[in-house]
Amino acid sequence: LLAGKNIIFPTETVYGLGADITHPMAVNQIFKIKGRPSDHPLIVHFADIGQISYWAENVPTQAKKLIEHLWPGPLTLVLPKSQHVPYCVTGGQDTVGLRIPDHFVAIALLRTLGPNRAVVAPSANRFGCLSPTSATHVNNEISRKVSMILDGGPSKVGLESTIISFCDSKPTLLRPGGIPLRAIEELLSQKILVQNKQDKGPR
Ligand code: AMP
Ligand code: MG
Repeated sequence: LLAGKNIIFPTETVYGLGADITHPMAVNQIFKIKGRPSDHPLIVHFADIGQISYWAENVPTQAKKLIEHLWPGPLTLVLPKSQHVPYCVTGGQDTVGLRIPDHFVAIALLRTLGPNRAVVAPSANRFGCLSPTSATHVNNEISRKVSMILDGGPSKVGLESTIISFCDSKPTLLRPGGIPLRAIEELLSQKILVQNKQDKGPR
């Protein structure tokens, strides 16, 4: 990762196709390998909750509540991005999707990279195909294009992360996933808006 290469790594949701956030070439390579439009943002994975303010600005109290109860875990929060998140990661947006994965291999990897580093990753599938939930499920075409596959066994959740945005007037569900919407609404004592998406295919 530090040499600007791409790897596949396990998380509790699905396997990710990763690059170090400070290597724009490696980040751009993710879009090529996946065959995904470059304006689709990637998720920024990091290891320590204390680093949230390095990657995001103005984290609202309600977002902090979810972080406290549900991280590490299958929940991605979309927040205003900090200057440390390059636009190639966010598809040109001023917001960033952030997550601390609940998988010991992912956490060990992220801790080894060190502070102020993160691994940006979408699911390790070709655009429009199903996300792999084990190392052996990774499509050959993709595995040939990365430098390493870290095998962490089957993903215990096996579903994508739930994505909640705090960048609209009210907290909004952008994608259902491993954390049920009900659990989030109970924690926040608030209804979550559900975004109507026309395109619901796998990414
Ligand atoms: P994947 O892991 O393949 O599902 O890709 C990451 C998912 O996170 C995509 O569905 C993105 O649309 C979503 N995502 C990441 N960052 C943002 C963001 N800043 N705003 C909205 N969605 C995001
Ligand atoms: Mg995907």
